[in-house]
Amino acid sequence: MIQSSFENYKLSSELLKAIDMLNYKSPTKVQEMVIPAVLEHKDVIVKSQTGSGKTAAFAIPICDLVDWDENKPQVLVITPTRELAIQVKEDIFNLGRFKRLKVSAIYGRSSFYNQEKELKQKTHVVVGTPGRIIDHLERGTFDTSKIKYLIIDEADEMLSMGFVEQIEDIIGKLPDERTTILLSATLPKDIAVLCDKYMKNPVYAEIEEENKAIDRIVQERYEVDENDKLNLLRDITTLENPDSCIIFCSTKIKTDELFDELAKLNYTCEKIHGGMEQSDRLRVMNDFKQGYFRYLVATDVAARGIDIDDISLVINYDIPQDKESYVHRIGRTGRVDRNGKAITFVTPDESKYLDDIHKYIGKEIELKERPDKEAVKDKEQEFIEKMNGAPEIKQRKGEQLSRDIIKLHINAGKKTKMRPVDVVGTLCSIEGMSAVDIGIINIADVSTFVEILNNKGEMVLKELQKKPIKGKLRKVKKVEI
Ligand code: AMP
Repeated sequence: MIQSSFENYKLSSELLKAIDMLNYKSPTKVQEMVIPAVLEHKDVIVKSQTGSGKTAAFAIPICDLVDWDENKPQVLVITPTRELAIQVKEDIFNLGRFKRLKVSAIYGRSSFYNQEKELKQKTHVVVGTPGRIIDHLERGTFDTSKIKYLIIDEADEMLSMGFVEQIEDIIGKLPDERTTILLSATLPKDIAVLCDKYMKNPVYAEIEEENKAIDRIVQERYEVDENDKLNLLRDITTLENPDSCIIFCSTKIKTDELFDELAKLNYTCEKIHGGMEQSDRLRVMNDFKQGYFRYLVATDVAARGIDIDDISLVINYDIPQDKESYVHRIGRTGRVDRNGKAITFVTPDESKYLDDIHKYIGKEIELKERPDKEAVKDKEQEFIEKMNGAPEIKQRKGEQLSRDIIKLHINAGKKTKMRPVDVVGTLCSIEGMSAVDIGIINIADVSTFVEILNNKGEMVLKELQKKPIKGKLRKVKKVEI
Protein backbone atom coordinates (compact mmCIF):
# COMPACT_ATOMS: atom_id res chain seq x y z
CA MET A 1 0.00 0.00 0.00
CA ILE A 2 1.24 3.46 -0.80
CA GLN A 3 1.79 5.45 2.35
CA SER A 4 -0.24 8.62 2.17
CA SER A 5 1.54 11.86 2.79
CA PHE A 6 0.70 15.40 3.84
CA GLU A 7 2.37 16.53 0.62
CA ASN A 8 -0.66 15.20 -1.30
CA TYR A 9 -3.00 17.84 0.04
CA LYS A 10 -1.46 20.89 -1.62
CA LEU A 11 -1.06 22.61 1.71
CA SER A 12 0.96 25.80 1.99
CA SER A 13 4.66 25.54 2.75
CA GLU A 14 4.02 27.20 6.15
CA LEU A 15 1.67 24.40 7.14
CA LEU A 16 3.95 21.67 5.82
CA LYS A 17 6.85 23.13 7.76
CA ALA A 18 4.87 23.10 11.02
CA ILE A 19 3.64 19.54 10.39
CA ASP A 20 7.19 18.45 9.75
CA MET A 21 8.52 20.13 12.88
CA LEU A 22 5.76 18.56 14.97
CA ASN A 23 7.09 15.29 13.59
CA TYR A 24 3.82 14.12 12.02
CA LYS A 25 5.18 11.74 9.41
CA SER A 26 1.94 10.80 7.67
CA PRO A 27 -1.75 11.57 8.17
CA THR A 28 -3.74 9.41 10.56
CA LYS A 29 -6.94 7.73 9.28
CA VAL A 30 -9.20 10.48 10.51
CA GLN A 31 -6.95 13.08 8.92
CA GLU A 32 -7.03 11.24 5.58
CA MET A 33 -10.80 11.52 5.59
CA VAL A 34 -11.29 14.96 7.04
CA ILE A 35 -8.52 17.12 5.56
CA PRO A 36 -9.60 16.86 1.87
CA ALA A 37 -13.28 17.35 2.74
CA VAL A 38 -12.64 20.50 4.77
CA LEU A 39 -10.30 21.88 2.10
CA GLU A 40 -13.30 21.62 -0.24
CA HIS A 41 -15.44 23.53 2.28
CA LYS A 42 -17.66 20.57 3.01
CA ASP A 43 -19.47 20.13 6.32
CA VAL A 44 -18.13 17.08 8.12
CA ILE A 45 -19.37 14.85 10.94
CA VAL A 46 -16.46 13.00 12.53
CA LYS A 47 -17.07 10.02 14.76
CA SER A 48 -13.76 9.35 16.39
CA GLN A 49 -12.10 9.01 19.76
CA THR A 50 -9.51 11.40 21.06
CA GLY A 51 -6.06 10.08 20.44
CA SER A 52 -6.84 9.55 16.76
CA GLY A 53 -5.34 12.87 15.68
CA LYS A 54 -8.76 14.47 15.30
CA THR A 55 -7.72 17.96 16.40
CA ALA A 56 -5.10 18.22 13.68
CA ALA A 57 -7.63 16.71 11.24
CA PHE A 58 -9.64 19.92 11.32
CA ALA A 59 -6.86 22.28 12.42
CA ILE A 60 -4.60 21.56 9.44
CA PRO A 61 -7.10 22.48 6.69
CA ILE A 62 -8.60 25.31 8.71
CA CYS A 63 -5.20 26.91 9.33
CA ASP A 64 -4.52 26.65 5.62
CA LEU A 65 -7.85 28.22 4.64
CA VAL A 66 -7.80 31.15 7.04
CA ASP A 67 -7.24 34.51 5.38
CA TRP A 68 -4.38 36.13 7.26
CA ASP A 69 -5.35 39.68 6.25
CA GLU A 70 -8.80 39.54 7.82
CA ASN A 71 -8.68 41.09 11.30
CA LYS A 72 -11.93 39.66 12.67
CA PRO A 73 -12.20 36.02 13.83
CA GLN A 74 -12.91 33.54 11.06
CA VAL A 75 -12.93 30.31 13.03
CA LEU A 76 -14.83 29.36 16.17
CA VAL A 77 -14.09 26.11 17.98
CA ILE A 78 -16.47 25.18 20.81
CA THR A 79 -15.15 22.71 23.41
CA PRO A 80 -16.82 21.35 26.54
CA THR A 81 -14.03 22.11 29.02
CA ARG A 82 -11.45 24.82 29.65
CA GLU A 83 -8.63 22.32 29.61
CA LEU A 84 -9.61 21.13 26.18
CA ALA A 85 -10.03 24.72 24.96
CA ILE A 86 -6.47 25.51 25.99
CA GLN A 87 -5.12 22.36 24.45
CA VAL A 88 -6.92 22.88 21.15
CA LYS A 89 -5.70 26.48 21.13
CA GLU A 90 -2.13 25.26 21.53
CA ASP A 91 -2.51 22.65 18.81
CA ILE A 92 -3.91 25.20 16.35
CA PHE A 93 -1.28 27.74 17.36
CA ASN A 94 1.51 25.23 16.73
CA LEU A 95 0.15 24.25 13.33
CA GLY A 96 -0.48 27.86 12.35
CA ARG A 97 2.77 29.15 13.72
CA PHE A 98 4.55 29.80 10.44
CA LYS A 99 1.42 31.31 8.96
CA ARG A 100 1.47 33.64 11.98
CA LEU A 101 -2.06 32.83 13.06
CA LYS A 102 -3.44 34.43 16.19
CA VAL A 103 -5.47 32.07 18.31
CA SER A 104 -7.40 33.11 21.42
CA ALA A 105 -8.96 30.92 24.07
CA ILE A 106 -12.00 32.19 25.96
CA TYR A 107 -13.26 30.26 28.95
CA GLY A 108 -14.80 30.85 32.35
CA ARG A 109 -13.11 31.64 35.65
CA SER A 110 -10.46 33.61 33.83
CA SER A 111 -10.26 37.39 33.29
CA PHE A 112 -13.06 38.54 31.00
CA TYR A 113 -11.28 41.86 30.54
CA ASN A 114 -8.08 40.25 29.26
CA GLN A 115 -10.05 38.12 26.85
CA GLU A 116 -11.95 41.17 25.68
CA LYS A 117 -8.69 42.98 25.04
CA GLU A 118 -7.34 40.03 23.10
CA LEU A 119 -10.48 39.80 20.98
CA LYS A 120 -10.15 43.47 20.08
CA GLN A 121 -6.84 42.74 18.38
CA LYS A 122 -6.42 40.77 15.21
CA THR A 123 -7.61 37.23 15.96
CA HIS A 124 -7.97 34.48 13.40
CA VAL A 125 -9.24 31.64 15.56
CA VAL A 126 -11.27 31.65 18.77
CA VAL A 127 -11.49 28.52 20.91
CA GLY A 128 -13.90 28.61 23.81
CA THR A 129 -16.34 26.98 26.17
CA PRO A 130 -20.07 27.61 25.61
CA GLY A 131 -20.83 29.74 28.68
CA ARG A 132 -18.00 32.22 28.17
CA ILE A 133 -18.59 32.44 24.41
CA ILE A 134 -22.16 33.47 25.17
CA ASP A 135 -20.97 36.05 27.73
CA HIS A 136 -18.80 37.64 25.07
CA LEU A 137 -21.59 37.53 22.51
CA GLU A 138 -24.05 39.14 24.90
CA ARG A 139 -21.65 41.91 25.85
CA GLY A 140 -20.74 42.55 22.24
CA THR A 141 -17.05 41.78 22.76
CA PHE A 142 -16.82 38.98 20.19
CA ASP A 143 -17.54 39.94 16.59
CA THR A 144 -18.79 36.85 14.75
CA SER A 145 -19.65 38.57 11.47
CA LYS A 146 -16.69 37.00 9.66
CA ILE A 147 -16.89 33.49 11.09
CA LYS A 148 -16.59 31.07 8.21
CA TYR A 149 -15.72 27.91 10.10
CA LEU A 150 -17.46 26.45 13.12
CA ILE A 151 -16.07 23.41 14.90
CA ILE A 152 -18.06 21.66 17.61
CA ASP A 153 -15.57 19.43 19.43
CA GLU A 154 -16.60 16.55 21.70
CA ALA A 155 -20.25 17.18 20.90
CA ASP A 156 -21.50 14.20 22.94
CA GLU A 157 -19.76 15.50 26.02
CA MET A 158 -21.12 18.98 25.43
CA LEU A 159 -24.64 17.57 25.23
CA SER A 160 -24.28 15.43 28.31
CA MET A 161 -23.11 18.52 30.20
CA GLY A 162 -26.38 20.19 29.20
CA PHE A 163 -24.91 22.70 26.76
CA VAL A 164 -27.27 22.01 23.87
CA GLU A 165 -29.27 25.24 24.19
CA GLN A 166 -26.14 27.31 24.50
CA ILE A 167 -24.71 25.71 21.38
CA GLU A 168 -27.87 26.53 19.48
CA ASP A 169 -27.76 30.11 20.79
CA ILE A 170 -24.19 30.45 19.59
CA ILE A 171 -24.93 28.98 16.17
CA GLY A 172 -27.82 31.44 15.85
CA LYS A 173 -25.31 34.31 16.09
CA LEU A 174 -23.05 33.04 13.28
CA PRO A 175 -23.29 33.72 9.56
CA ASP A 176 -25.20 31.01 7.65
CA GLU A 177 -22.51 30.83 4.98
CA ARG A 178 -20.02 28.70 6.83
CA THR A 179 -18.39 25.31 7.03
CA THR A 180 -19.42 23.31 10.08
CA ILE A 181 -17.45 20.40 11.51
CA LEU A 182 -18.79 18.32 14.37
CA LEU A 183 -16.64 15.83 16.23
CA SER A 184 -17.92 13.27 18.68
CA ALA A 185 -16.89 9.93 20.14
CA THR A 186 -20.49 8.70 19.99
CA LEU A 187 -23.42 9.90 17.89
CA PRO A 188 -26.59 9.64 19.95
CA LYS A 189 -29.93 10.83 18.54
CA ASP A 190 -29.83 14.38 19.85
CA ILE A 191 -26.55 14.93 18.02
CA ALA A 192 -28.08 13.65 14.79
CA VAL A 193 -30.88 16.20 15.32
CA LEU A 194 -28.35 18.98 15.80
CA CYS A 195 -26.49 17.93 12.63
CA ASP A 196 -29.70 17.82 10.59
CA LYS A 197 -30.64 21.27 11.72
CA TYR A 198 -27.35 23.05 11.25
CA MET A 199 -25.27 21.21 8.68
CA LYS A 200 -25.51 21.06 4.90
CA ASN A 201 -25.05 17.65 3.23
CA PRO A 202 -22.35 16.67 5.66
CA VAL A 203 -19.66 14.18 4.78
CA TYR A 204 -19.70 11.43 7.38
CA ALA A 205 -16.33 10.22 8.58
CA GLU A 206 -16.43 7.27 10.92
CA ILE A 207 -13.11 5.86 11.82
CA GLU A 208 -13.17 2.15 12.44
CA GLU A 209 -9.71 1.78 13.81
CA GLU A 210 -8.18 -1.60 13.06
CA ASN A 211 -6.19 -1.32 16.17
CA LYS A 212 -8.45 0.56 18.47
CA ALA A 213 -6.94 2.25 21.49
CA ILE A 214 -9.09 0.12 23.72
CA ASP A 215 -7.64 -3.06 22.21
CA ARG A 216 -4.12 -1.81 22.71
CA ILE A 217 -4.70 -1.32 26.40
CA VAL A 218 -4.17 -4.22 28.78
CA GLN A 219 -7.18 -4.13 31.10
CA GLU A 220 -7.25 -5.78 34.50
CA ARG A 221 -9.47 -5.62 37.58
CA TYR A 222 -9.18 -6.47 41.24
CA GLU A 223 -11.91 -7.26 43.71
CA VAL A 224 -11.25 -5.27 46.84
CA ASP A 225 -13.04 -3.90 49.90
CA GLU A 226 -13.27 -0.14 50.14
CA ASN A 227 -11.07 0.04 53.25
CA ASP A 228 -8.39 -2.10 51.63
CA LYS A 229 -8.02 -0.04 48.45
CA LEU A 230 -5.06 2.01 49.64
CA ASN A 231 -3.06 -1.13 50.48
CA LEU A 232 -3.84 -2.63 47.12
CA LEU A 233 -2.85 0.61 45.41
CA ARG A 234 0.50 0.58 47.18
CA ASP A 235 1.17 -3.00 46.11
CA ILE A 236 0.19 -2.41 42.52
CA THR A 237 2.14 0.81 42.10
CA THR A 238 5.18 -0.89 43.64
CA LEU A 239 4.94 -3.77 41.19
CA GLU A 240 4.09 -1.71 38.13
CA ASN A 241 6.40 1.16 39.08
CA PRO A 242 5.02 3.37 36.29
CA ASP A 243 6.74 6.48 34.95
CA SER A 244 3.42 8.23 34.89
CA CYS A 245 0.09 7.19 36.28
CA ILE A 246 -3.37 8.71 36.67
CA ILE A 247 -5.48 7.48 39.57
CA PHE A 248 -9.16 8.24 39.15
CA CYS A 249 -11.51 8.79 42.09
CA SER A 250 -15.24 9.34 41.98
CA THR A 251 -15.47 12.60 43.96
CA LYS A 252 -13.47 15.70 44.82
CA ILE A 253 -13.40 14.68 48.48
CA LYS A 254 -12.02 11.23 47.73
CA THR A 255 -9.47 12.79 45.40
CA ASP A 256 -8.34 15.13 48.18
CA GLU A 257 -8.18 12.29 50.71
CA LEU A 258 -6.25 9.91 48.51
CA PHE A 259 -3.87 12.65 47.49
CA ASP A 260 -3.17 13.38 51.17
CA GLU A 261 -2.54 9.69 51.85
CA LEU A 262 -0.15 9.32 48.94
CA ALA A 263 1.68 12.52 49.80
CA LYS A 264 2.19 11.14 53.32
CA LEU A 265 3.66 8.02 51.76
CA ASN A 266 6.11 10.19 49.79
CA TYR A 267 4.62 9.55 46.35
CA THR A 268 5.57 12.31 43.91
CA CYS A 269 1.99 13.28 43.25
CA GLU A 270 -0.48 16.05 42.56
CA LYS A 271 -4.24 16.22 42.28
CA ILE A 272 -6.75 17.75 39.91
CA HIS A 273 -10.48 18.24 40.26
CA GLY A 274 -13.18 20.73 39.34
CA GLY A 275 -13.15 22.40 42.76
CA MET A 276 -9.65 23.78 42.25
CA GLU A 277 -8.74 27.19 40.88
CA GLN A 278 -8.33 27.23 37.14
CA SER A 279 -4.73 28.42 37.36
CA ASP A 280 -3.85 25.52 39.70
CA ARG A 281 -5.49 23.02 37.39
CA LEU A 282 -3.50 24.32 34.45
CA ARG A 283 -0.25 24.28 36.36
CA VAL A 284 -0.84 20.71 37.52
CA MET A 285 -1.73 19.55 34.01
CA ASN A 286 1.35 21.19 32.49
CA ASP A 287 3.68 19.83 35.16
CA PHE A 288 2.23 16.37 34.68
CA LYS A 289 2.66 16.57 30.91
CA GLN A 290 6.29 17.48 31.40
CA GLY A 291 6.87 14.72 33.90
CA TYR A 292 7.63 16.72 37.05
CA PHE A 293 5.71 14.18 39.14
CA ARG A 294 4.57 10.63 38.45
CA TYR A 295 1.15 10.25 40.04
CA LEU A 296 -1.90 12.37 39.32
CA VAL A 297 -4.98 11.78 41.47
CA ALA A 298 -7.99 13.02 39.53
CA THR A 299 -11.73 13.12 39.09
CA ASP A 300 -13.21 12.74 35.63
CA VAL A 301 -12.18 16.34 34.90
CA ALA A 302 -8.91 14.92 33.63
CA ALA A 303 -10.47 12.11 31.65
CA ARG A 304 -11.77 13.85 28.58
CA GLY A 305 -9.83 14.94 25.60
CA ILE A 306 -6.68 15.86 27.42
CA ASP A 307 -3.66 14.91 25.42
CA ILE A 308 -0.79 13.63 27.50
CA ASP A 309 1.73 11.34 25.89
CA ASP A 310 3.20 8.33 27.56
CA ILE A 311 0.86 7.66 30.45
CA SER A 312 1.85 4.12 31.24
CA LEU A 313 -0.83 3.27 33.78
CA VAL A 314 -4.40 4.32 34.56
CA ILE A 315 -5.91 3.15 37.83
CA ASN A 316 -9.63 3.37 38.49
CA TYR A 317 -9.41 3.61 42.26
CA ASP A 318 -13.17 4.02 42.12
CA ILE A 319 -14.92 2.25 39.28
CA PRO A 320 -16.60 4.76 36.96
CA GLN A 321 -20.35 4.72 37.38
CA ASP A 322 -20.95 5.39 33.76
CA LYS A 323 -19.63 3.07 31.10
CA GLU A 324 -18.52 5.76 28.65
CA SER A 325 -16.42 7.34 31.33
CA TYR A 326 -14.52 4.03 31.63
CA VAL A 327 -13.46 4.25 28.01
CA HIS A 328 -12.48 7.89 28.30
CA ARG A 329 -10.49 7.29 31.45
CA ILE A 330 -8.53 4.34 30.16
CA GLY A 331 -8.02 6.16 26.85
CA ARG A 332 -5.53 8.41 28.69
CA THR A 333 -3.08 5.59 28.16
CA GLY A 334 -2.39 3.82 24.83
CA ARG A 335 -2.44 7.06 22.80
CA VAL A 336 -1.65 7.07 19.07
CA ASP A 337 -0.05 3.68 18.57
CA ARG A 338 1.20 3.19 22.08
CA ASN A 339 0.35 0.43 24.46
CA GLY A 340 -0.87 1.03 27.94
CA LYS A 341 -2.39 -0.57 30.98
CA ALA A 342 -5.57 0.13 32.93
CA ILE A 343 -6.42 -1.37 36.30
CA THR A 344 -9.86 -1.10 37.89
CA PHE A 345 -10.74 -1.63 41.55
CA VAL A 346 -14.19 -3.14 42.11
CA THR A 347 -15.85 -3.41 45.53
CA PRO A 348 -18.37 -6.23 46.16
CA ASP A 349 -21.41 -3.99 45.72
CA GLU A 350 -20.28 -2.49 42.43
CA SER A 351 -20.86 -5.43 40.13
CA LYS A 352 -23.69 -3.58 38.38
CA TYR A 353 -21.29 -0.92 37.07
CA LEU A 354 -18.85 -3.62 36.04
CA ASP A 355 -21.55 -5.48 34.08
CA ASP A 356 -22.46 -2.27 32.27
CA ILE A 357 -18.84 -1.70 31.30
CA HIS A 358 -18.43 -5.29 30.10
CA LYS A 359 -21.47 -4.97 27.87
CA TYR A 360 -20.28 -1.65 26.55
CA ILE A 361 -16.74 -2.71 25.66
CA GLY A 362 -17.89 -6.10 24.45
CA LYS A 363 -15.50 -8.12 26.57
CA GLU A 364 -14.64 -9.02 30.14
CA ILE A 365 -11.92 -7.20 31.97
CA GLU A 366 -9.52 -9.84 33.25
CA LEU A 367 -9.87 -10.55 36.99
CA LYS A 368 -6.51 -10.70 38.76
CA GLU A 369 -5.46 -12.22 42.03
CA ARG A 370 -4.19 -9.88 44.68
CA PRO A 371 -0.40 -9.40 44.20
CA ASP A 372 1.81 -11.77 46.08
CA LYS A 373 3.46 -10.15 49.15
CA GLU A 374 6.89 -11.58 48.29
CA ALA A 375 6.74 -10.23 44.75
CA VAL A 376 5.86 -6.78 46.08
CA LYS A 377 8.71 -6.91 48.57
CA ASP A 378 11.16 -7.83 45.82
CA LYS A 379 10.24 -4.72 43.89
CA GLU A 380 10.18 -2.31 46.79
CA GLN A 381 13.74 -1.07 46.49
CA GLU A 382 13.40 -0.36 42.81
CA PHE A 383 10.17 1.49 43.48
CA ILE A 384 11.73 3.69 46.16
CA GLU A 385 14.71 4.44 43.94
CA LYS A 386 12.52 5.59 41.09
CA MET A 387 10.34 7.65 43.40
CA ASN A 388 13.35 9.41 44.89
CA GLY A 389 15.16 9.77 41.58
CA ALA A 390 15.06 12.98 39.56
CA PRO A 391 12.26 12.93 37.02
CA GLU A 392 13.07 13.02 33.34
CA ILE A 393 11.55 16.26 32.06
CA LYS A 394 9.88 15.99 28.67
CA GLN A 395 9.99 18.62 25.98
CA ARG A 396 6.79 20.61 25.70
CA LYS A 397 4.89 20.09 22.48
CA GLY A 398 5.72 22.89 20.12
CA GLU A 399 9.08 23.47 21.78
CA GLN A 400 10.75 22.17 18.67
CA LEU A 401 8.78 24.74 16.70
CA SER A 402 10.00 27.52 18.94
CA ARG A 403 13.64 26.62 18.55
CA ASP A 404 14.38 29.15 15.84
CA ILE A 405 12.11 31.82 17.26
CA ILE A 406 12.88 34.66 19.62
CA LYS A 407 10.27 36.92 21.15
CA LEU A 408 11.15 40.59 21.62
CA HIS A 409 9.57 43.12 23.91
CA ILE A 410 9.50 46.73 22.68
CA ASN A 411 8.91 49.39 25.25
CA ALA A 412 6.03 51.17 23.46
CA GLY A 413 2.45 50.22 22.66
CA LYS A 414 -1.02 51.48 21.92
CA LYS A 415 -0.64 54.51 24.19
CA THR A 416 2.12 55.77 21.87
CA LYS A 417 0.02 54.80 18.84
CA MET A 418 2.26 51.91 17.87
CA ARG A 419 0.74 49.82 15.04
CA PRO A 420 1.86 46.50 13.53
CA VAL A 421 2.85 48.31 10.35
CA ASP A 422 5.36 50.46 12.30
CA VAL A 423 7.02 47.35 13.67
CA VAL A 424 7.01 45.55 10.33
CA GLY A 425 8.38 48.65 8.60
CA THR A 426 11.37 48.93 10.90
CA LEU A 427 12.04 45.19 10.92
CA CYS A 428 11.96 44.93 7.14
CA SER A 429 14.42 47.82 6.86
CA ILE A 430 17.03 45.66 8.61
CA GLU A 431 19.29 43.98 6.10
CA GLY A 432 18.52 40.29 5.75
CA MET A 433 15.00 40.63 7.17
CA SER A 434 11.77 40.26 5.27
CA ALA A 435 8.10 39.82 6.18
CA VAL A 436 8.42 36.02 6.31
CA ASP A 437 10.83 36.35 9.23
CA ILE A 438 8.28 38.18 11.36
CA GLY A 439 5.97 36.12 13.55
CA ILE A 440 3.08 37.16 15.70
CA ILE A 441 2.90 40.81 16.75
CA ASN A 442 0.97 41.65 19.88
CA ILE A 443 0.45 45.27 20.82
CA ALA A 444 -0.60 45.98 24.42
CA ASP A 445 -1.08 49.36 26.10
CA VAL A 446 2.56 50.22 26.74
CA SER A 447 4.34 47.19 25.28
CA THR A 448 4.70 45.44 21.97
CA PHE A 449 5.69 41.81 21.58
CA VAL A 450 7.00 40.50 18.31
CA GLU A 451 8.34 37.12 17.34
CA ILE A 452 11.33 36.91 15.04
CA LEU A 453 11.54 33.65 13.13
CA ASN A 454 14.21 31.71 11.27
CA ASN A 455 17.02 32.23 13.74
CA LYS A 456 17.26 35.95 13.05
CA GLY A 457 16.19 37.10 16.52
CA GLU A 458 19.65 37.85 17.95
CA MET A 459 20.67 39.81 14.90
CA VAL A 460 17.43 41.84 15.02
CA LEU A 461 17.81 42.46 18.74
CA LYS A 462 21.26 43.93 18.12
CA GLU A 463 20.09 46.12 15.25
CA LEU A 464 17.13 47.46 17.20
CA GLN A 465 19.43 48.85 19.87
CA LYS A 466 20.43 51.53 17.36
CA LYS A 467 17.45 51.68 15.00
CA PRO A 468 14.42 53.85 15.77
CA ILE A 469 10.90 52.44 15.67
CA LYS A 470 8.21 54.96 14.84
CA GLY A 471 10.73 57.78 14.95
CA LYS A 472 12.29 56.97 18.32
CA LEU A 473 14.88 54.65 19.73
CA ARG A 474 13.01 52.13 21.95
CA LYS A 475 14.11 49.79 24.69
CA VAL A 476 14.05 46.32 23.16
CA LYS A 477 14.78 43.11 25.02
CA LYS A 478 14.34 39.37 24.69
CA VAL A 479 11.49 37.69 26.63
CA GLU A 480 10.32 34.10 27.29
CA ILE A 481 8.07 32.63 24.62
P1 AMP B 1 -6.02 14.07 19.31
O1 AMP B 1 -6.81 12.91 18.79
O2 AMP B 1 -6.33 15.32 18.56
O3 AMP B 1 -6.19 14.23 20.80
O4 AMP B 1 -4.46 13.81 19.02
C1 AMP B 1 -3.71 12.87 19.68
C2 AMP B 1 -2.20 13.06 19.52
O5 AMP B 1 -1.77 12.70 18.21
C3 AMP B 1 -1.71 14.47 19.71
O6 AMP B 1 -0.61 14.42 20.59
C4 AMP B 1 -1.23 14.93 18.36
O7 AMP B 1 -0.17 15.84 18.47
C5 AMP B 1 -0.81 13.63 17.73
N1 AMP B 1 -0.95 13.60 16.25
C6 AMP B 1 -1.89 14.20 15.51
N2 AMP B 1 -1.71 13.92 14.19
C7 AMP B 1 -0.62 13.14 14.10
C8 AMP B 1 0.08 12.53 13.01
N3 AMP B 1 -0.32 12.66 11.75
N4 AMP B 1 1.16 11.78 13.31
C9 AMP B 1 1.57 11.63 14.59
N5 AMP B 1 0.96 12.17 15.67
C10 AMP B 1 -0.13 12.92 15.45
